[in-house]
Amino acid sequence: MKLSHKQIEDLSKQFGSSFYLFNVNKLRHNYRKLHDAFKNRYPNFIIGYSYKTNYIPYLCKEMYSLGAYAEVVSKLEYDLAVKIGVDPKKIIFNGPIKSFEDIKTALENESLLNIDSLYEMDHVIAYCLDNPERQVKIGIRVNFDLSESNKSVLQAGYEKSRFGICVANGDFGSALIKLGKIQNIILAGIHAHFSTNERKVETYMEVTKKLCSLAKTHMCDTIEYIDIGGGIYGELPPEFGVQSPSFDDYASAICEVINNEFPYKNRKPFLILEPGISLVANVFTFIAKVIETKRIDDQYFVVVDGSVHNIKPTMHKRNLPMKIFYHQEDTQKNLHYHIVGYTCMEKDYLAFGVKGKLPNKNDFILFENVGAYTIVFNPPFIKERPSIIAYENNTYLEIRKKETLREFFHEDLYLFP
Ligand SMILES: *Cc1c(COP(=O)(O)O)cnc(C)c1O
Repeated sequence: MKLSHKQIEDLSKQFGSSFYLFNVNKLRHNYRKLHDAFKNRYPNFIIGYSYKTNYIPYLCKEMYSLGAYAEVVSKLEYDLAVKIGVDPKKIIFNGPIKSFEDIKTALENESLLNIDSLYEMDHVIAYCLDNPERQVKIGIRVNFDLSESNKSVLQAGYEKSRFGICVANGDFGSALIKLGKIQNIILAGIHAHFSTNERKVETYMEVTKKLCSLAKTHMCDTIEYIDIGGGIYGELPPEFGVQSPSFDDYASAICEVINNEFPYKNRKPFLILEPGISLVANVFTFIAKVIETKRIDDQYFVVVDGSVHNIKPTMHKRNLPMKIFYHQEDTQKNLHYHIVGYTCMEKDYLAFGVKGKLPNKNDFILFENVGAYTIVFNPPFIKERPSIIAYENNTYLEIRKKETLREFFHEDLYLFP
C-alpha cells in the first residue's frame, strides 16, 4: 500500500493527529512464512504467539485464527486469551510469578503450564495431592548456561538468566525426584527461553539439543513437547544494517537437530516456538502530525504530536526507518534536524540528527517497525494514548480508540474528591 499525504490527512481527521497503523496482510504473511518454514521440516510444530510483545485483542484474535496458540506470562494475559475465545487447551502459561489459583486454573483447563520455579512446583504438588483422581500434565522451564568461551550471549550482557529451574546446581534433578513421587503428575514438556544479543541460529540449535537431551534422559516416556521459546529475528528493515538469519535458516537448523534427536516417526514430540518480535515488529507503523518546526540557535526541531514512548519506549539511540509526507512539494534545502515529541522531557526525541528536507507544520511522519514492545510499553504519561487502526486491502478499522479523560482517569479506579 502506498499512502499519500491526502490519505493520511483523511485518516487523521477520523482518528486523531497521531495513530498506529496495523498491516493485517503483512502479519498473515509473516505468520505463514514462519509456520511453513518449520512445518515443512517438522510436522509436529506449534507456534505460541507471545502476548506480551503486543496484546491488542484484535491482533491476538487474528493470531488465533491463523492457528497460533497463546503464549502468556501472567494471569491477566491468560484471561485476555480466554476472553477473546482462545481454547484454554491452546494457552501456554509461562512466566515467573504464578499463584496457586493461577496454577489451579491452568491445570483444570488443561492449558500447557510451564513451571518456572520450585515454589510453583510445590503449588502443583499441593493441587495434585488435593485432587488425586485427576492426572495433570506440566512442563518445566529449565535454566542452563549458554555462554560461549566464558562470554555471555544474553541481552545486556547479563551473566546469568534468572528464569527457569537450574540444571547445573541440581535443582532440576531434585525437582524431578520430588515430582516423581507424585502419582498423578505427568512431565509432558520441557521449556527454555533466552533473550540473546545476536539471536543466532547456533544458539537455537544448542537450546534445542539441550532440551531434547534432558527430555530423553528424564522424561523419556512422557515427553509431549519441546518448547524452545522465542526471540528469533524477523525480517529487518535494511536501514538497520544487520545481516539476520531468515525463518528458513532457523527452521532448517532447529528441525535438523530435533529430527536427529527424535528419529522415529511415531515418537516425535511437538516442537513449540514462541515468537513475538519476529511476527509483529514490522506490521505496525506510527504516524504523527508535525505541529511546528522551530529553530533554536542553529538547530532545527520538528515537533510532532507523538512521543518517543510511542515508538521506542526503551529510548535506544538508533533512528527508526521513516517516511515523511509533505503537504506541499517545494524546494526546502537539505538540513539536519531532530524530531521531538509532546512530553516535557528533554530526552523525548523520536529521531535525532535526521538529514533531509525539513518537515513543516501539517506534514506527517511515519515511523516503521514499531509493532513489538511499543504499544504495551506506552505509559499513560501526559497525554491520552493514540488510536490503533487495522487495515486490510482498502478498509480501515479502528481496533483501539484514542483514550479520553474518562479511560485515563477511570472513575472506577480513582477517587475524585
Ligand atoms: C518474551 C517471551 C517470548 C517472546 O520473545 P520475542 O523476543 O518477542 O520473540 C517468548 N517466550 C517467553 C517465555 C517470553 O518471555
